[in-house]
Amino acid sequence: MAPQDWQKYLKFRCTGCGNCCRDTVVCITDADIQRIVDGTGKSPLKFVRFYTHDKISMSTNDPLWVKFNDQKAVMGLRSIQDRCVFLDDETNLCTIYEHRPVTCQDHPFNVTFSDTGAVEKISLSKIVKCPHAWDGDVSRRELRRVQTWNERQEESYLKKVGEWNRSKTGQKTRPAFLRFLGFSV
Ligand code: SF4
Ligand code: SF4
Repeated sequence: MAPQDWQKYLKFRCTGCGNCCRDTVVCITDADIQRIVDGTGKSPLKFVRFYTHDKISMSTNDPLWVKFNDQKAVMGLRSIQDRCVFLDDETNLCTIYEHRPVTCQDHPFNVTFSDTGAVEKISLSKIVKCPHAWDGDVSRRELRRVQTWNERQEESYLKKVGEWNRSKTGQKTRPAFLRFLGFSV
């Protein structure tokens, strides 16, 4: 890619087809859960699901794996018939847009920043078919803000997962993990 070719991606516009909210697993952190609980009043039990190896394609060494009594699993948003639980059936729009997980806010951009914060490269996720338009106006500052937020949030969550996985005490159940993260379930 020639220098500055990534600038074309700043014209990306989501057409709201909802493809990325179907047939995908949205991994979440405790901070995502807290924001959704605060914004919707729902219990985490209503929208959190733990995905085992047969339900998610992820390296066995990935630090997102949480150890339970029976097997390891990765925490994500619940789906109903392969649709995110928060995707509106009729409009295909996100019903918790303001509170959605940071990974949803980051999607579909993969951005590399230099040490000084300048954009070095941008590409788009190919995880699903994305019928976007090219008349948007994406802010580099916003891309940087969301990516930094995503990295900090994940770093904090992974520390907690590591602590849980190393702990030898108590029952290793899914509700116990949610309580360990600070939720009343
Ligand atoms: S939370 Fe919203 S944006 Fe994220 S996958 Fe679900 S419906 Fe889509
Ligand atoms: S697949 Fe692309 S166009 Fe469709 S909702 Fe997701 S980001 Fe928007």
